Amino acid sequence: MTIQSINPYNLQSIEEYALHTDQQINDKIEQTQGAWLKWRNSGYAERSYLLNKLAEIIRARKVELARLMALEMGKPVKQGISEADKCAAVCEYYAEKAAGFLSDQIIKTEAIKSYVCFNPLGVVLAVMPWNFPLWQVFRFLAPALAAGNCGVLKHASNVPGCALAIEDMVTEAGFPPYVFQTLLAGSNKVDKIIEHEHIKAVTLTGSTQAGIKVAQKAGSLLKKTVLELGGSDAYIVLEDADIALAAKVCAESRLINGGQSCIAAKRFIVVKEVEEEFTRLFTQYMSQKVMGDPLEDRTDLGPMARADLRDELHSQVIKSVTQGARCILGGKIPDGENAFYPPTVLVNVTEDNLAFNEELFGPVAAIISANEEEDAISLANKSQFGLGAAVFTNDVERGDYIAANLLEAGSCFVNGLVKSDPRLPFGGIKQSGYGRELGMFGIHEFVNIKTVVIA
Ligand code: NDP
Repeated sequence: MTIQSINPYNLQSIEEYALHTDQQINDKIEQTQGAWLKWRNSGYAERSYLLNKLAEIIRARKVELARLMALEMGKPVKQGISEADKCAAVCEYYAEKAAGFLSDQIIKTEAIKSYVCFNPLGVVLAVMPWNFPLWQVFRFLAPALAAGNCGVLKHASNVPGCALAIEDMVTEAGFPPYVFQTLLAGSNKVDKIIEHEHIKAVTLTGSTQAGIKVAQKAGSLLKKTVLELGGSDAYIVLEDADIALAAKVCAESRLINGGQSCIAAKRFIVVKEVEEEFTRLFTQYMSQKVMGDPLEDRTDLGPMARADLRDELHSQVIKSVTQGARCILGGKIPDGENAFYPPTVLVNVTEDNLAFNEELFGPVAAIISANEEEDAISLANKSQFGLGAAVFTNDVERGDYIAANLLEAGSCFVNGLVKSDPRLPFGGIKQSGYGRELGMFGIHEFVNIKTVVIA
């Protein structure tokens, strides 16, 4: 059995990879367990040294990595280079911070001594998606290794080259053999992998459907999960906002990674007073983006990662239009043997429309009218998802209050683009999942928070 990586720019096969057999998968998990029995006793100094080495290697190989991502999933190289830099940064972040985040915490009681310490759990399975093929993995891997865990990766089937490159870099950095391994396996093998006695926990980034399946299986075995799933982030534009800034940031956010990002803005909820001006400027920014070969520096928007994902997105656009939305930009599949979809803007999107209710995982924006602030917030929260949200207003106190108290999402920004940052916790609520990655909260997900009492 094999998997093929297909270049979405021309739909040609790049390489064919043999899938690991059940026996090989089992052997690899056993090897990683063996590695963990030693790795859990390594000190923070050693872990930090190796994570910093890994960061150096990622930076040294970033152009090669960006080309690989461009070929396997269509990300423009300049965005791939930034992604690689961010992976290096998260390694450096945990190299510096892990010891502090995981140091013993004394809690005074009547005992002689009582405190909390943090023990690693063991081998964690990471089921990861293709959209940020390096970053999604490193934001799990850096804190996992720093905490003394080990990992096996089941990456998305269209990015096996990226999966193997990550394993290769971990080895090159000098980590002990097998602390991290890639399993070349389809999603049909995941249940079996979760069942393995040495898999102690699972983290998944991907669709809500995949998250539910994995959580069900892991839950049936009482293995912990962290789920980072889909989103339909609302960006609210209030009447007192800087509309030019809002339009620019909104277009940038909608087109991050060709629109294939869980935290890309998807619903633009604009108060009626400024809707016309916002729509005009936003559509201008959306139409200025250069679509083309992801290997070229001038390209802002590559092809979508797979032709089937593009076709599915187009059918969502068609349905939204049938349900009353009006398409004022894009909305047509370009000619050619590739997976391109153009920047698309839908207006007249109401709360009963597909574009309001489903995740549009590509460069398609839905503009929704709101009467005023209260209506805008209520529309923003009328979503099955709760990953990120933003509000644009010139009154920073008003924005802060809305972000902190009224919006139902894991990350809420004022006058800016929702993005992940190694220093800040990241994750969602509702159908966007649970648990947090990054920051101090992220490293605490896969540890035994142990109470020790000396009576
Ligand atoms: P999936 O959620 O299907 O894939 C993500 C990962 O989960 C892949 O490794 C995949 O493996 C695996 N997976 C899929 N189904 C199962 C399952 N039943 N049990 C265990 N593992 C599973 O994403 P798709 O690539 O199919 O994209 C579909 C939609 O998912 C997108 O349009 C988007 O809405 C959403 N998505 C969200 C992402 C995010 O960042 N939150 C990222 C990617 C997608 P395999 O590739 O082998 O199927």
